[in-house]
Formats: sequence, structure tokens, C-alpha cells
Amino acid sequence: MILSDTREAAGGRTLLLHAHPGHELRLFGWMAQQKPTLFLMTDGSGAGAPRTHHSLQSALRAGARPGAVFGLAPDRDWYAAILNTDLTMFDKVISAIVEAATAKGSTLIVSDAVDGYNPMHDLCEVVAASATLRLRRQGRDVSHLVARAVAGGNSDDIVTEIRLDRDEQQRKQEAVDAYASLAEEVQRLLDEDPAALSRERLRRPTFAWDARWSPSWESIGASRVAASKYTQRIEYERHVRPLALALLERWSAEPIGSGERVDCAS
Ligand SMILES: [Zn+2]
Repeated sequence: MILSDTREAAGGRTLLLHAHPGHELRLFGWMAQQKPTLFLMTDGSGAGAPRTHHSLQSALRAGARPGAVFGLAPDRDWYAAILNTDLTMFDKVISAIVEAATAKGSTLIVSDAVDGYNPMHDLCEVVAASATLRLRRQGRDVSHLVARAVAGGNSDDIVTEIRLDRDEQQRKQEAVDAYASLAEEVQRLLDEDPAALSRERLRRPTFAWDARWSPSWESIGASRVAASKYTQRIEYERHVRPLALALLERWSAEPIGSGERVDCAS
């Protein structure tokens, strides 16, 4: 998708990376404050038509701007890349983030969190962490924080909490209402956690990529394979973890996934 900047953001050195269009609504108040450049990995067409144009409108509404990667490919292409350990598209996003951060002098990258809800969310954190590691290798002082797409999480990991006043909540609700093909997950989050309208949280990334983990998306994938919707399911140990380690270990000074944690928030 080719986009031209239609609004000059004030400040706007922060970068925001989401797996799916629609996630940015969760951070609408924060976007209005920070006016980040927004990057999107998929075009949101997993269960219907692409929805990047809706995300462009919500980003502009908040005073944010679209990044060089804004819905790179449909979910099915990303899933194929995960199954084949094909790093090409992941590297494309990492390079776009690194380029933008270098050009803008960015000191903060915010991404989805590893939440076990969707492998693309989990790998979105990896892409942002990889870009952060690469920028740090270049001597840049860059922090990485994450936002969950689903309720839950450890309260000890919360670094920043943004409280929205009545007017800000109103603007966020209007942005949600205007998002015609609202991402199912955003509605789900607001249903599960109504306070998500007035409160936005950024967390330290804490997932350590241990050898064993059973994300909820893995059992969902298994049931879909059983129902013959997919011929092969994505697995954590076989696909996602090796891909994550391949991306992270290129720029990490420490081994990953051996009990050592990569702390990109400090
Ligand atoms: Zn999502």
C-alpha cells in the first residue's frame, strides 16, 4: 500500500508497530499525545477485506502518521513465512523501523506484546526487539515497550499508564466507532476490560523465549487443523520460537531462550 503523509505530526519521533490494523485504537490516547509513526505488519485481511485504510484514518485522527510499512501482506502470507522460517518480510519491517528511528532520532519503539493470543502479536514484539537491538548495536539509546492486545498480564511489568480524561475518552470512542470493520480483538478487549477506554498501559517486554511454552493460539490452531480449515498448524517449538531466535540472535550480545532475558526496556 503506497501512502503519502497528509499531515505533519508535531514532535512525532516515537515509533509504533502493530501486527494487525486496529490494534492502534487501544493506544489512541497515547497516539494523540506522542504522534508516533505507525507501522503495520499485516493488512488485516485474515477474515475479510484489508482494513489498513481504516487504520490510516484513525492514525491521522490522532495526529499520528503512517510508516513506510503499513500492511505489508495478508495474514496468510505471514503464516506461510512462519511455517517456512522465511525471514524476508520480517527483515523488511525491521529495516523500515531502523531506518525511521535513525532518520528521526527515535528513543522509543512501542509494539504488541507476546500475549499467546496470536502468533503475529508474539512476533511483532520480536520484530520491534530486533530493531531495538540493532539500533543499540549502532550506539543509539532506544527503549522498547509493549502493549497487550488482550486483558491480563503482570502488573509488575507496567512502566507507563496513560489516564484519559473525559474529552480524550470521547475522542477515543469516536475513533473506535468510526472504524467500520473494527478489529475483533479491539472489541473483545473493550468488552473484557471496559477500563481500556480510559486507561492505556505500556509494559516492559519480559518474554524470555524459553524452550517450552503453550500459547493459546497453538490449541486454537490445532482445533482448526482438526476441522480441516488449515493443512498445517503453526507451533511454538517448531516454528515461532526458532524464527524468533533467528531474528533476535543476530544483534543480541547474549544468548536468547536459555533462561536469560533480553531486557529492551531499560
Ligand atoms: Zn491482532
